[in-house]
Amino acid sequence: MTAQPTTQGTAPDPRARVSFWLEDAGDDLSPRPPVDGSVDVNVAILGGGFTGLWTALELLKREPSLRVAVVEREIAGFGASGRNGAWCSGELNIGMDLLAERHGTEAAKAVRRAMHDTVDEVARASAAEGIDAGFRKGGTLLVARGPAEMPALRATAEEYERFGFGEHCRVLDRDELDGRLRVDGAAGALHLPDCAAVHPGRLVRGLARAVERRGGTIYEQTPVTSFSAGTRTAPGAGRAGAERPLLRTPTGDVRAETVVLAGEAYLAELPQLHRQLLPIYSLIVLTEPLTDEQWAAIGWNGHECVSSFRLTIDYLSRTPDGRVLFGGRGAPYHFGSRIDPRFDRDEATHAMLRRMLVRWFPALRGIRFTHAWGGPLGMPRDWMPSFSFEPRTGIASARGYTGHGVATSNLAGRTLADLITGRQSALTALPFTNHRSRDWEPEPLRWLGARFVQLSMMRLDRLAERRGRAPTGRSLAERLARH
Ligand SMILES: Cc1cc2nc3c(=O)[nH]c(=O)nc-3n(C[C@H](O)[C@H](O)[C@H](O)COP(=O)(O)OP(=O)(O)OC[C@H]3O[C@@H](n4cnc5c(N)ncnc54)[C@H](O)[C@@H]3O)c2cc1C
Repeated sequence: MTAQPTTQGTAPDPRARVSFWLEDAGDDLSPRPPVDGSVDVNVAILGGGFTGLWTALELLKREPSLRVAVVEREIAGFGASGRNGAWCSGELNIGMDLLAERHGTEAAKAVRRAMHDTVDEVARASAAEGIDAGFRKGGTLLVARGPAEMPALRATAEEYERFGFGEHCRVLDRDELDGRLRVDGAAGALHLPDCAAVHPGRLVRGLARAVERRGGTIYEQTPVTSFSAGTRTAPGAGRAGAERPLLRTPTGDVRAETVVLAGEAYLAELPQLHRQLLPIYSLIVLTEPLTDEQWAAIGWNGHECVSSFRLTIDYLSRTPDGRVLFGGRGAPYHFGSRIDPRFDRDEATHAMLRRMLVRWFPALRGIRFTHAWGGPLGMPRDWMPSFSFEPRTGIASARGYTGHGVATSNLAGRTLADLITGRQSALTALPFTNHRSRDWEPEPLRWLGARFVQLSMMRLDRLAERRGRAPTGRSLAERLARH
């Protein structure tokens, strides 16, 4: 286990210290056996997070006789899937305008509908597997924290209306917002119904058990050091006599007809994919359970997932046991796309998040924070997730969720399962299928660009908060990060 302890307080199992969610998952976190010698399966999956596990489950649901192996470096749920902000959201990080510009209006609408449906599908599919993931569909509250955020609120509402999704976005004035959640200095909010708060630890650990019940094998503590594409000799000749794709590990090769790369931000560590994703750290602080008086002071009975319109993303949720989770981006990008367990903690960013929470809710001044952790999320160059399968090489992958992977990974798993089993469906027709984002720039340009955008966004947020100056959308940083 390479993770540094990232939570305060004691936990019975050191693996639980990766995040509150794993600590609270109620599952035995002892690692499953690693790969030991060569393995031969139909489908080999790198990564035991939501993407790898939903893909394994969906494949086994479609073809129960398939031999499916998941190869995980640490334990299932060690990555972003076991650490996130608990938003199972039907929103993507890429706007409908941009989707329509690139793929056409109908495709943009189809994406939106598929994402909305996916929120309910996560609830349905996890319940069908007997997983209690604490699913509560209270929607999203996007709060304008002052007049400077109102233009962004209005632009978002207008975009929903323009694409015919007006009923999926309700504008709340200050009084209506107060009736749901009392946020200091708020000017108004949007309520988007297509989002649920989940317990990601219970979901990801439950999915791993479900995959095993359906006959899949999960190997843990097995790092994949590289992968090889397969070759098909002639069209229609099958894989007989051809090279099969494989995952290489220090304790044996895993050969398969299809290899699925489902490591999200960590895929940037593999040389072949190094410039496909930018690992950006998102960090989280968590309070102790609130008292009844504290809940009465702030409201929040609807269990909505909450965010503001800041350019430097912030996100809040209520845990099933009554704590407030406050997360935000803001931690610096590390030169060379480095990922290191030490980066899961950045005291300056964690301290800022603690201060921000009290600014949102002054009634919580003096509250104790019990946990702090973080992790990398994967940003593609064009902000567009990609679900791909190339029959010629036998390589499939789903990645690039830009911090919106809790629901999207389920859509990815269903799409990959359709693609791998040769089914054409409404899902495989979405523009994510076989989309390829262009590579990020080589260093040092990548670091210079990422830090410029990060620092500029923070400066624009400060100007909005202190001087009430709304971002115009025309600054270089905003244009570089348009999504
Ligand atoms: C702090 C934080 C907050 C977030 N909040 C939200 C949120 O509220 N809502 C939302 O929708 N999304 C959120 N996200 C993003 C979301 O969690 C991810 O998009 C999603 O979990 C990705 O799932 P995944 O299975 O693709 O990747 P991961 O969950 O990262 O899983 C990848 C797995 O692959 C393993 N692995 C990597 N490399 C190798 C290798 N070489 N060999 C073997 N195994 C390997 C890793 O150990 C890991 O377990 C957040 C992310 C972070 C970091």
